[in-house]
Amino acid sequence: MKSLDDVLQGVDAALDDSLARLFELLRFPTVATDPAYHGACRDAAAWLKGLLADMGFEARIEATTGQPVIVAEYAPKDLPSHAPRILFYGHYDVQPADPLELWESPPFEPRLRKGADGETRIFARGACDDKGQLMTFLEASRAWLKARGSLPFRLTVLLEGDEEGDSTHLDRYVAKNRTRLKADVAFICDTGMWDAKTPAITTRLRGCISEEIVISGPSKDLHSGLYGGPARNPIRVLTKILGDLHDRNGRVAIPGFYDGVDPVPLATRRQWKSLKFPEKKYLKGVGLSIPAGEKGYAVHEQMWSRPTAEINGVYSGYTGAGSKTVLPAQAMAKLSFRLVGRQAPARIRKGLREFVKARLPADCKVRYKSEGGDSMAVTVSESSPWVRLAQAALKDEWKKEPVLMADGASIPVVGTFKSLLGVDTLLVGFGLEDDSVHSPNEKYNLSSFRKGIRSWTRIIAGIAEQQGRGKS
Ligand SMILES: [Zn+2]
Repeated sequence: MKSLDDVLQGVDAALDDSLARLFELLRFPTVATDPAYHGACRDAAAWLKGLLADMGFEARIEATTGQPVIVAEYAPKDLPSHAPRILFYGHYDVQPADPLELWESPPFEPRLRKGADGETRIFARGACDDKGQLMTFLEASRAWLKARGSLPFRLTVLLEGDEEGDSTHLDRYVAKNRTRLKADVAFICDTGMWDAKTPAITTRLRGCISEEIVISGPSKDLHSGLYGGPARNPIRVLTKILGDLHDRNGRVAIPGFYDGVDPVPLATRRQWKSLKFPEKKYLKGVGLSIPAGEKGYAVHEQMWSRPTAEINGVYSGYTGAGSKTVLPAQAMAKLSFRLVGRQAPARIRKGLREFVKARLPADCKVRYKSEGGDSMAVTVSESSPWVRLAQAALKDEWKKEPVLMADGASIPVVGTFKSLLGVDTLLVGFGLEDDSVHSPNEKYNLSSFRKGIRSWTRIIAGIAEQQGRGKS
């Protein structure tokens, strides 16, 4: 049997072929949110199905209410009964490429360019998010299969095409296919490293809900000379409510808002502290210098472990040139909340509505326009055996202890896997802060791609080794 070193050498020897396959995938302009590209999405799905079938998986394309998903199953016959079942998830859709004129090379014609720092980078829309990343796992599986003949686990690969758009399509698909997607753990490669030399495992993601509030008062816009004084002004009602949302310490004032927010374990706080998050630089990058937000929490703690209430838009009244002495009939605000821990989206929404109701004058009305797409926060136990296994594998590859990171953003599918399948997710990714995902000139470092494949190869080796131990 080939040793792990042999398999890794195989990865390196086949790197050009792996890159050629990634380039083929990158050439499909899979902008799923634009109907003009739906043909390209179908073509990419067919290509991915072919790729997975070629690896010996039973692959098929399945319709959803959005773009098709590719599902590939792999179950080697001679696998011991205690071998795990793994669900690997990735997305083949990409963000729109505009503005096109800012790209140094066309977004769907992948190019390799070597920087002044000696690092070679893959430039294309999707190079990192998520085509480059998902291919690291698939190429590792391919290399392992070539060297060892079979993977040490049952595997279901699920690739979707609506991640950048409407995540409810996949939610519906998962809800309908619960039994088939059941797994012991999900693997996702769609997150980042701590820096170019330090790998990371993401163990916390914030959830998110949005809400639009419409306050109405008078039945029509009024003249402030005639009604200014006696008439209720919805802008004043709304801004008073918005002003009350936070107390003087930056805490959200909605009663019960912090229910389900657990303190971060001491060991995690220590590790975060040791990372020396560059607060000043982080704020300076966006023209700020003084941390706002909840008092008593550092910038990284606020982003990684604290919930927020944000006002994303406010509109009402006259905003054109010159002045108009109007009392508007309505005032609107768009709000969103980032959630952590066990904060339940439905309860937060209810709390907000009660908060508004308590401040609403008797002759005003309130309406809500909810967009849906609620997601709960996700926390993966840092002592989970999968996290431990990945930690060891990443350390071997990068010669550096991986950081257990949190991400202030949301990856709704992780919550879907948890709530619908009861499955925890291992989030290992090789993206870097300067990858320009969602921006012009998106790139993925060649070293992220190569060492990403090697990292997954080591994770596969770790699973094989566990099985060896399980048998004896
Ligand atoms: Zn992504």
